[in-house]
Amino acid sequence: MAGAIHILSETLCNQIAAGEVVERPASVVKELVENSLDADAGQVVVTVENGGKSLIRVEDDGIGMGRDDLFLSLERHATSKLADEKDLFRLRTLGFRGEALPSIAAVSRMVLQSRMKDSMAGLALHLEGGEIKKTLAAGIPPGTSVEIRNLFFNIPARKKFLKTDATEFAHIADFLFRIALSFPAVRFLLHHNGRTILNLARQQELSHRVRELLGGEVFGAMTAIRRTVGDLELEGFAGSSDLHRATAAAIYTYVNRRFVRDRLIQHAVMEGYRNLLPRQRYPVAVIFLRLPPDQVDVNVHPAKREVRFRRQREVHDFIAETLTGAGRREPAATWLSGREEGDRQPAATFSTGEVPAEGPCGGPDDRIGEPFSTLAFETPAEYGALAPAAASPPRETSPSLPCGPDREAVLQGVFSFMRILGQYRRSYIVCQDGDELVLVDQHAAHERIGFERLKAQFRERGVEKQELLLPLVLDLEFNEATALEEHLEELGRLGFDVESYGNRSCVVRAVPALLDQEKVQTVLRDVLEELADLETGSSLDDALDKVFIRMACHGMVRANQALTVEEMKALLADMDSIDLNSHCPHGRPVMIRFSLGEIEGMFLRR
Ligand code: ADP
Ligand code: MG
Repeated sequence: MAGAIHILSETLCNQIAAGEVVERPASVVKELVENSLDADAGQVVVTVENGGKSLIRVEDDGIGMGRDDLFLSLERHATSKLADEKDLFRLRTLGFRGEALPSIAAVSRMVLQSRMKDSMAGLALHLEGGEIKKTLAAGIPPGTSVEIRNLFFNIPARKKFLKTDATEFAHIADFLFRIALSFPAVRFLLHHNGRTILNLARQQELSHRVRELLGGEVFGAMTAIRRTVGDLELEGFAGSSDLHRATAAAIYTYVNRRFVRDRLIQHAVMEGYRNLLPRQRYPVAVIFLRLPPDQVDVNVHPAKREVRFRRQREVHDFIAETLTGAGRREPAATWLSGREEGDRQPAATFSTGEVPAEGPCGGPDDRIGEPFSTLAFETPAEYGALAPAAASPPRETSPSLPCGPDREAVLQGVFSFMRILGQYRRSYIVCQDGDELVLVDQHAAHERIGFERLKAQFRERGVEKQELLLPLVLDLEFNEATALEEHLEELGRLGFDVESYGNRSCVVRAVPALLDQEKVQTVLRDVLEELADLETGSSLDDALDKVFIRMACHGMVRANQALTVEEMKALLADMDSIDLNSHCPHGRPVMIRFSLGEIEGMFLRR
């Protein structure tokens, strides 16, 4: 049929792109603050109202934009940070996709103002849904200010998914906290509904910013770490093992100053703390990894939260070895500028022979690769002066790996590193990881995967549903019925299509696709019970983990089942595909490791 296909309008394209980049107010703050930092700002002021739903303003004192650039910055794929495809592999800025400003503009009312240092005046553009409505001269100080009002005003479906003001604001504050850790020399201010929430002075030293943000007590129980091997460099602070937490949320990891939640890095950190922490507990750590930009691909995630390393195993082991012992709180375990084998050049230049000293347009493009050049590392007070590290011998951490061309492919995942030896009692997968013997509880693993999948689906589009062949009619108890009435819409996002008939009865038409249909009634009642427990006015977010634990633990099929090697491999690969950074369901461990030493001990061989 002729004429059925047509090119989408620019505005619609931007709205679609916004779906990827702009999830919630915090993603707007992230993009704007990153732009300010890329523009070499010494100060960034973030002002929000109602969790960012009604107002987000980000003001900086950076290089600003001239008239032409101001207009260009709103075009899709317009960026000053990338000139050709080679630049993708030598990125030194936080941004590079040239999508943020047009995407945000498409779904909001925006006032974009900027003034370059040597211009007499600035310019202000007023936009609505991405269209420029007004252009005015602006009497502003040098720098850039972006003001966003009524986010998603033209996309009601998106707006509906926003959480309470408090939750949305928490995401914003969380982001600022993380970025502020990696830019200690920048002053950050955060205001919410007229109150000042963060006010961070410019710091000469990273340690001061860390202390400022984590608090003196935690900071006092941390050890400064710094180590360079070849072109890999790590700096940071590792908490002692008694600082452990229930989740991985206090492990702050950065690659070339970009905050990431990366499975490989997290695994490496945990490996560094192996045998130091109680099971299912996580350390507090602030870790900056620096390596030449061409060794890491940051373009694998629209919001750039994940990265891919060229030499995964090397990076993994470097981090794990550097952290080993850091949690023990002995000065000897501290590594300070101990350059080791393969020490080629100061990491500060990140010279790979082809990286220009300046970015494509002479902008402040080397900020990201730049270490905290002026920052001398300090020891937390309690430790006194640090003796140079008596380098403890690097631990043997490498799992045995096949040689040959498949090696790289095998390194893709972390659980998939393990060699499968067999299955025990149709319940446990027996594996070898390096020198260690690992038992994986297949049912617990399934639950964990189910839990993480449900959570990920919920975050993205809402939990995937599956229609029931026969709708199920239920009579509810008072509490359940109230919870149902109050959370109908959220139940929809949790994967349940339920209609209330009043009178405490309801009909269920669809349930989460991951669930065992036999158990629908039990699971729904459980979920309602959790929702009923919620304090009035608090958001579903607060109970999410509990809800998903309930769902995963009743709903997942497959316990006590013989698995083929292929199925076991698939299960381990699934473990790799879930986000281990998210909160773990408190419960039984998914796997247990035995070190060679432990096993030799059992055989009285030591
Ligand atoms: P990206 O950051 O990926 O380049 P954006 O859409 O976020 O894409 O921004 C487009 C361009 O606008 C940037 O490359 C930069 O040149 C300019 N820009 C955006 N924000 C600022 C700012 N706060 N200060 C100076 N220039 C800015
Ligand atoms: Mg940007």
